[in-house]
Parts: sequence; structure tokens; C-alpha cells
Amino acid sequence: MIDSLSKGNPEQSACLQRWAYPVIKYSGGQVRTCCRTFPNEVISDEMLLELGINAFINSPELQQRRLEMLSGIRHPSCKSCWKLEVTGVKSFRSKVEDFTRYIHEREGGPNDFSEIVRNKEKYLMSTKPQMLEIQIDNICDLKCIYCNEEYSSRWESENKMDAGYTPSAHTMTKDSSPLFKKTFWSWFQSISSDLKCLNLIGGEPTLSPKFYEILDKLLSDEIQCSPHLVISIVSNFNSNESRFNKFTSYLSRLSKKYTLSIDASCEALSKRGEFIRQGLDWEIFQKNVNSMVDVMRSIPSENRNHNFGIQVTNNILSVSSINDFLNWVHSIVELKKHPIHLRQNIVSYPDYLSPIILTSHFSNYYFDTAKLIRHKADQAIDYGHISNWLSFADFLDSIGKSILTQQPNKNSQKRFLDFVQKSELKRGINFIEIYPEYSDFIDYCKRL
Ligand code: SF4
Repeated sequence: MIDSLSKGNPEQSACLQRWAYPVIKYSGGQVRTCCRTFPNEVISDEMLLELGINAFINSPELQQRRLEMLSGIRHPSCKSCWKLEVTGVKSFRSKVEDFTRYIHEREGGPNDFSEIVRNKEKYLMSTKPQMLEIQIDNICDLKCIYCNEEYSSRWESENKMDAGYTPSAHTMTKDSSPLFKKTFWSWFQSISSDLKCLNLIGGEPTLSPKFYEILDKLLSDEIQCSPHLVISIVSNFNSNESRFNKFTSYLSRLSKKYTLSIDASCEALSKRGEFIRQGLDWEIFQKNVNSMVDVMRSIPSENRNHNFGIQVTNNILSVSSINDFLNWVHSIVELKKHPIHLRQNIVSYPDYLSPIILTSHFSNYYFDTAKLIRHKADQAIDYGHISNWLSFADFLDSIGKSILTQQPNKNSQKRFLDFVQKSELKRGINFIEIYPEYSDFIDYCKRL
């Protein structure tokens, strides 16, 4: 069962992200662990007064989730991983060995999973998380098909026009309290020396004044972190020149204090990219990607490995052109002689936009692309990207296998058809003109 509690083997439910990866909603005063769980827990001032910095990562609710994981209970809040595991795609849940090492090295537990499980009540606190994500707010100029109002103010505005709209607890139009911010930065100071990575995401961070507030704070003398702390920023790269320049002007300063990892989100070229990521201007995206590679090349390494990557969110409409997209990325690697990493991502929700619901022949797009990546890797000069690209090829293979072996959910396929028909009406487009290779699949969905 995916949507209800089920009891089983702790090896199949434990995941270090529940301990290691807090996600803080900076504008809404909320928290969760790992970007894939839901819902968020609202951190009230009362909670902060009662729990202090423990409100961020050791609330009674979070400790309960950890206890369940170590008792073999698969709580529905992690259902995006349970669902991937059922369909055979590699989920984002950590391996048991990594979980054990984490508890051993960071929380002083034994180096033995079954012993951790036997004494589970001792290991429910998290004191040294390794990755922190700050979701700044939801201000965004795009309305990607698989996104929602939690991450996009454009989706929020559109949803508000629907009759019967009720604001979701996820939307973050209000600012968090002064006590929240003050306690947050004290907590950050207390964990910063053990932190490996700080992710800054939006919305689109570069549109938010709070993004620059946070960067200024990170650059100030108040914050002391290891130079190896990776500051990771995900942007849609749709910024005009002045906004893009403002963003990049921070990078050279940040790079003197931290290690940088910058990601541009996209998964398809040109008109297809613009269809999936509504509001995107492909020409601007292309120009900004090329400029970012130049910026990264110009940053002295100081023995650190600053890197740039593309966050590829595999979705139902990116499948058939994934090869063209990766060829485009690779052409920049070759032109600039500089690595571009590929970050693995896949749409699980909404389920009708997941590639897993496609009919079996679509799996060949993934198998063929994975094969071509491996072939290219044998011949290409490695600018520091090849092992990352090979692991991306494995990821594509796992999605392909899942398309081939899973029985697709017919309701999801019907909802995909509904999505296509509504998009045609709303956006005045002919879907098959943009995606002719989906014509048989659309006919198949119509017959369901
Ligand atoms: S099981 Fe998946 S959703 Fe749950 S914490 Fe781990 S990575 Fe996140």
C-alpha cells in the first residue's frame, strides 16, 4: 500500500534524509525534512519559544516520523519514494549502509543497522544535518506544467481565478516572524560547521529580494562556515541581462568564501522547452547558460570544485527529445571545454505528467539516449563530467525499464489526455503539431 501506513522491514523504510536534510520555508515559517516529503510543519512563535532551535529539526512530529522509519513503517508523507520503488525506478531514499554510517559518524550511534533499530529511541534526534534547503518564497515568472502554487506565484495567481479557490497551507505570501528569522540564524550558526551543502531555491530565487538578503548574510562576517560548504542555487535562467548580471556579481564574491554549485532547470529545447516551462524564453535561457559557463570558468578554484549543472526534470513531454537536449548540453561542454553536470530528477506528481505512464515503445528513447551517452563517454574528452553523465545514463535506463515493465495507470493516462485537451484550449495550440510522435499515444488514451 502506498497511501496508508504499512509495517515491514526497517531496511525498506529507513532513510537518512529524515535526519540529514531539513527544508526550511523562509517566507512561510515552515519546515519539513527532504524536498519530497509533505506536508510542511508550521513553526509558530509558541513552538519556537518552547523548543528553541529544536523546532527546526527535532519537533515531536519529526521524531515520530523517524521512529516509524526505524520500526519498518512507510509513512504516506514519503509516498513519492514508495511509489518509485514499487515501479522499479531508483528512488531518492538512502541506502541502509549510508544511513548507518550517518548515524554512526554524526550522531554517535553504532556502526550496525540492526543495533540502531534495536535501540531506536536513542537515535531520533538530529544534531548535525548535512544538507539544508532554504525555500525562499514562491515568486516566479514561470508556470511549468508539473509545478504548483507552492513553488510558483504564477500558478498561485492562476489558481486564485478559479471559482472555489481555497488558499493552500503551502502558499507563502506572508513573511515569517522576526522570532523565526532570529532563531533560524542561531540554528544555522550551530549547524554550519558540519553542514556540507546549503541549497537555495524558490520560486525563482533571483526574483526575490529575500534571496539577496540571504546572500548578504552569508557574505557577512557574522557567518563562519567551512570553505567547503557548497552553496547550491537552482534558477530557471530566464532572467534579463541586468537581473542575470546582478546574480553573477554575487557569485564571484561567494566563491571566495564557499564552494559553489549553480543549476539551471530545463529538460527540452526551444518550443518544447517553452511548452513545458510556460513563460520561458529559450533564447534567453540559451544565452544565460553559455554566460554562466564563462562565469564559472573565470572563478579561481582556490582548491575547490565550483560547478555548474542542468537540473533535468524527466516528465512525460521531455522523453522523446531527451537525446536532442543532452546533445545541446554536450555541444556547450565541447565548445567551452568546461564540465556541465546533469542532475537527476523525475516527475512523480502530478502522476499524469510522469514518464512512467507512457506506453512501452517510449522506453526506447531512454535506452537509446543512455547508449549514446556511454558511447560518447568512450570517445569524449573528460572535462570532469563523464562519471556524472554515466550515472545519468543509468538513471535514464532505470526509467526506461520501468516504462517497459510497469502496468501504466489508466486513470493517469486519461488525465493526461484531459491535460492535453485543456492546454490546447487555454493556450490556443495544436499539441500534435509540437509533439507529432505522441499522436498514437493520444489515440490510445482516447480509446480508454
Ligand atoms: S524516503 Fe524519500 S521522501 Fe522520504 S525522506 Fe527519504 S528521500 Fe525523502
